[in-house]
Amino acid sequence: MADKIKIAVLLAGGCAGCEMSLVDMGDKLVDALGHLEVAFWAPTVADVKYKDLEAMPDKSIDVGFIDGMVRLSEQEHMTKVMRDKCKVLIAYGACASMGSIPGMSNMHSAEELLKQGYIDTFSTDNPDGVLPQPEYLLDGKYNLTLPKFLDDVRVLDEIVEVDYYIGGCPPHPDFVAAAVQAIIEGNLPPKGSWITSGK
Ligand code: SF4
Repeated sequence: MADKIKIAVLLAGGCAGCEMSLVDMGDKLVDALGHLEVAFWAPTVADVKYKDLEAMPDKSIDVGFIDGMVRLSEQEHMTKVMRDKCKVLIAYGACASMGSIPGMSNMHSAEELLKQGYIDTFSTDNPDGVLPQPEYLLDGKYNLTLPKFLDDVRVLDEIVEVDYYIGGCPPHPDFVAAAVQAIIEGNLPPKGSWITSGK
């Protein structure tokens, strides 16, 4: 049997609904798994850490899916890592390819969003107006680092070169099935294409 096709899935700034579409392929996914090896799927499914992906050789993964947009420094970094490690990279879903609902936050500055989220909402009890800090000390012992909240929402192809796009929020399982089928058959469309069901 030919070598399995290695895939990776990264959830950036999204809700994981796109990944549910992969699972929604049902029987088609069961059939496809005979041809696919999941090398990385984080942070949702596989017990593989970001550092494990960083340690993999460049272009050692055949196809990578990234769902969700990019708003945090960590997401920006991992998007670049995925680009380095994957021969083919797919912007998977409306957030990754077009910004979708999270992209509407670009109508406000990062400062306005943090103030609204952490100070102004009526249910918030934050008399000192404390905002998330990229670095802080916990109990005087641990220096934890939080990802930086970036100035705006960006889609994947504003950060790295993207080979294919799959639309939808979440993508229709038929679109995902068409992409997986094309990957298995080595029959992907010209680069830059949007992958649909083909119906
Ligand atoms: Fe969630 Fe829709 Fe964004 Fe996918 S495209 S991550 S389903 S909000």
